[in-house]
Amino acid sequence: MLHASSGRVVIVGGAIMGSFSAWALRQAGFAGTITVVEKDSTYQHSSTALSAASIRTQFGTPTNVQMSVYGAEMFRHIKTVFGDEADIGYQEKGYLILGGPDDVAERIAAAEMQREHGADIIVLDPLELSARFPGISVDGIGLGTFGAQHEGWFDAWSLLSHVRRAARQLGVDYVQATVTGFETDDAKVAGVLLSNGARMACDFCVLAAGAWSGRLVAPLGIDLPVVPKKRTVFSFKTPFNRSNFPMLFDASGFWVRPEGKDYIGGIQPPPETDADSDGDFEPQFELLEDAFWPLLATRIPEMEQLRLQRAWAGHYEVNTLDHNGVVGAHDELTNLIFATGFSGHGVMHAPAVGRGVAELITSGSYTTIDMNALGWARIRNSTPLVETIVY
Ligand SMILES: Cc1cc2nc3c(=O)[nH]c(=O)nc-3n(C[C@H](O)[C@H](O)[C@H](O)COP(=O)(O)OP(=O)(O)OC[C@H]3O[C@@H](n4cnc5c(N)ncnc54)[C@H](O)[C@@H]3O)c2cc1C
Repeated sequence: MLHASSGRVVIVGGAIMGSFSAWALRQAGFAGTITVVEKDSTYQHSSTALSAASIRTQFGTPTNVQMSVYGAEMFRHIKTVFGDEADIGYQEKGYLILGGPDDVAERIAAAEMQREHGADIIVLDPLELSARFPGISVDGIGLGTFGAQHEGWFDAWSLLSHVRRAARQLGVDYVQATVTGFETDDAKVAGVLLSNGARMACDFCVLAAGAWSGRLVAPLGIDLPVVPKKRTVFSFKTPFNRSNFPMLFDASGFWVRPEGKDYIGGIQPPPETDADSDGDFEPQFELLEDAFWPLLATRIPEMEQLRLQRAWAGHYEVNTLDHNGVVGAHDELTNLIFATGFSGHGVMHAPAVGRGVAELITSGSYTTIDMNALGWARIRNSTPLVETIVY
């Protein structure tokens, strides 16, 4: 692959993926110019700002497990990375993922694979679950898997603020503008076109535009299957109160976790109401009554009493091929580097992706985590890297 330690890098999208890519480039010694083009410096509609900001190592794909462990190690040592003032409120309280009786064999095998890649996953049978997590009904449950380390939640906005500030201090330039298109020349992206009429010449272009990524490169004839899917988060109060309650994923599909003194949770909409979202950020309140609340009250009876405080919706940048990120260079436009498509797990993976992007640009290959499995080739060949643990 093309690589360079200087030249001009333009990054499209300045939230968590774009900012970690920019910062990591400087960390890797890239001496050229780095410009991050971000259309909205308030980030109000970015997935990063609207996410549930949680991190898990329980994935079905080894690369994802490794990227999570890498991210969690950074979160644990955030002051070493970004200075004594840095605080992202990282709470390492684990994910508890419940499965039905039919899931037991597959989930035990997945836990073994996750442990091989640095995760610390404990398998709990229903009796052990009840003892360790009182208040959770184990009716219909075959097992739970719990991440005793490297899993929890944090403040994504603080993380973005720290990495952005650090990138700026290292001479990364943030420009507020909308990228409207690309100019190509001899199998390369030669320039990035902006809504203000400007053209930014580049030697490398990093695509980190989140849920907007697929649409942005479509005019180049690139069929990147990354689309926006709306996901709603409910924030509520409940008398249920247990210390060290984890991030819980129920076998029925809902998730819930503590957020300060309250809880947040959600559930994916059924496929028939899950059309691609075109700038729609209205919370899907019907999901609360129709799905989330009844399922929550069944699993945690003391949560039947809840008082909704607020709700918000953001967009997952869903890779419809396989729900995995797309990282690495395009095969024809060889200086176009993807860092997108993480389908609901991009904040936790941004530190690793940033590092990977920086390694590709400065040395032409991965030296820390091998992310080739996430590359463009599988998209081109329609050979999915299926992620089985998707929420
Ligand atoms: C409700 C919800 C819950 C989630 N929970 C989690 C979680 O618990 N853990 C986790 O790891 N992940 C979670 N995610 C997913 C995570 O938020 C995303 O994977 C991650 O934020 C993607 O980061 P990004 O920088 O690629 O995209 P974004 O944060 O969306 O940033 C893309 C940026 O590109 C800019 N942009 C777009 N088009 C252009 C253009 N043409 N010109 C210039 N700028 C442009 C946008 O303004 C935006 O700021 C969740 C997402 C949602 C919506």
